[in-house]
Amino acid sequence: MTRPILASIDLSALRRNLAQIRSFASGSRVAAVVKADAYGHGILRILPVLADADGLALLNIEDAVVARQAGFDRRILLLEGAFDRAELDLAARLGLHVVIHCEEQIGLLGSLAAGAVVHAHLKLNSGMNRLGFTSGSFEGALARLRAHPAVASLTLMTHFASADDGRGVEEQIGRFDRAAAGTPFEQSLANSAALIRFPAARRDWVRPGIVLYGATPFEDRSAADLGLAPVMTLTSRLIAVQDVQPGDHVGYGQAFTAARPMRIGVVACGYADGYPRHAPSGTPIVVGGVRTVTTGRVSMDMLMVDLSNCPDAGVGTPVTLWGEGVPVDEVATAAGTIGYELLCALAPRVPVRVLGG
Ligand SMILES: *Cc1c(COP(=O)(O)O)cnc(C)c1O
Repeated sequence: MTRPILASIDLSALRRNLAQIRSFASGSRVAAVVKADAYGHGILRILPVLADADGLALLNIEDAVVARQAGFDRRILLLEGAFDRAELDLAARLGLHVVIHCEEQIGLLGSLAAGAVVHAHLKLNSGMNRLGFTSGSFEGALARLRAHPAVASLTLMTHFASADDGRGVEEQIGRFDRAAAGTPFEQSLANSAALIRFPAARRDWVRPGIVLYGATPFEDRSAADLGLAPVMTLTSRLIAVQDVQPGDHVGYGQAFTAARPMRIGVVACGYADGYPRHAPSGTPIVVGGVRTVTTGRVSMDMLMVDLSNCPDAGVGTPVTLWGEGVPVDEVATAAGTIGYELLCALAPRVPVRVLGG
């Protein structure tokens, strides 16, 4: 028998999430964000479903090459733009859209061979202060791109810092609208949180990432509330059971001490599989279909669970770490992080099975 850990990727859930996103987006075109190898799900695995999206947005040009080779012929956007001349040249040959977020990238456009063109997404820094031209420099950048022989088309974009929390997007949208006033170009503003919460942010294109994968961008609204289904389910099995007595400790650092006689299950999943080491005792987990909690520290290859409510569990009993039955967002919250990080951190050593293709 091989080690029982497995990540299942459910394409039918992805298909339903994409349909749900289209209903939120009410007519805006959808650029599916597939950076970080589709948030850990694998671009090539999910591409058959994303053939129904209007475009892809990603970081590494290698992924754009893979998507083109697999036959994806719609819009592909490089979210950080081209990093050097060779990349920009390849982007032109692949017909890509590239973010232009700084002076250096405008300069790079001049290095394209005569006749070569790219589609430009000119990015405004509307308040996040990560990428983009400030309000003061945007107009000049726009004028230069409009006149640039290497620019085949222009889209105006920005990115929100607080679409998922109480601060919202109003101030940033205001800055964007002042910068874009009177221009005829398509606009791309909204990430997952903004496209759900702020109809005014939807515009021509939306850029959903996390919701495609069936996790939530919000602290106070679950994926299920949003009508989303988990695409990735991480499962394993119990490989040992220990009976412990009051005062006995469990795992490294004796971080958990039994207050009563307990059965402790040992699961073949650890931080080297991508499970968060910071998940404390009490993190939710499902054993044999029953919801219970972890006990003690997560180790590299194993973690331990409380079997008090699982009298039938023994060696070989199936365990769900996250996904169907226990949302990744709940595990992430227990570990002090967000679902995004857990999905992206799925380790290469975990075998993957694709369902619903
Ligand atoms: C990652 C990213 C997105 C998608 O964000 P989600 O919160 O996953 O929807 C959209 N736009 C840009 C520029 C991004 O970097």
